Amino acid sequence: MADRDGLLWFDGELIPWRDAKTHVLTHTLHYGMGCFEGVRAYKTEQGAQIFRLKEHTDRLFNSAKILSMPMSFSKEAINAAQCAAVAANQLEHAYLRPMVFFGSEGMGLRADNLKVHVIVAAWEWPSYMSPEARELGIRVQTSSYTRHHVNISMTRAKANGHYINSMLALNEALRSGCEEALLLDPEGYVAEGSGENFFLVRDGKLYTPELTACLDGITRRTVMQLARDEFGLEVIEKRITRDEVYIADEAFFTGTAAEVLPIRELDGRAIGDGRRGPITEQLQSRYFDIVTGKDAKYAHWLTPCQA
Ligand code: PMP
Repeated sequence: MADRDGLLWFDGELIPWRDAKTHVLTHTLHYGMGCFEGVRAYKTEQGAQIFRLKEHTDRLFNSAKILSMPMSFSKEAINAAQCAAVAANQLEHAYLRPMVFFGSEGMGLRADNLKVHVIVAAWEWPSYMSPEARELGIRVQTSSYTRHHVNISMTRAKANGHYINSMLALNEALRSGCEEALLLDPEGYVAEGSGENFFLVRDGKLYTPELTACLDGITRRTVMQLARDEFGLEVIEKRITRDEVYIADEAFFTGTAAEVLPIRELDGRAIGDGRRGPITEQLQSRYFDIVTGKDAKYAHWLTPCQA
């Protein structure tokens, strides 16, 4: 990833990609205290446009606030940086990675002279999941790793260190031949995937875990709004047990990278008919139309990257 052409936004300016370096004593590298976003720009008829940029930047600033990392850039500057990172690299579609991290000015947990740095990288990232997975659904395993407790790590923050838990869970699931993990909260209720929120469909209603042990996903919010406003579905946020998932009619993950991703199997049990269900398909197809600018009603969720 480091050895490539292009420009990357680093603390206020676009610099050559290969020069975007930091010291091995970078504080965040040692303790994981940092926060980031995963944002996407889609190819539309009006050029590359970023989906729900404002919401992602708001969440980044909230994460930084929760972690007590003072931002020295305005939200407007970070929004502009994201547009610039896409435009400067002439990307038609892109994955964007804004990240806030502590520098190498000090070491140890008590360091109090740390500078807060911000980077924004944008690059073309081919589909997170194969086209078949989007259509057929993926196989998922309940993780042996528990998702964060609200009072151990701050689950409203999209913090770097949280992803140790995600990677342990994902690697375990991949090793056992599944494509994703489903993590339970410390009380044993369904929380989320390693990098996605979770939904199930039962008797025509949509259920998703409350925002306790899971991230306040922007795709989650999007799908909840579409389900209610476009499809007249009831959406219920509640505690969900693992066996409720086994007997669901449909289940899917949502996320910026995963988009709307059907789940066809959990722990060796087929969900519904063992393939993408009709409500999942409707939500998925509407989501793709919106992110690619084909739905004028939601054009306000897209920000053009070219001035
Ligand atoms: N949960 C976790 C742990 C995630 O990393 C992500 C991806 N950011 C999500 C849920 C989905 O969030 P969003 O829809 O905002 O991408």
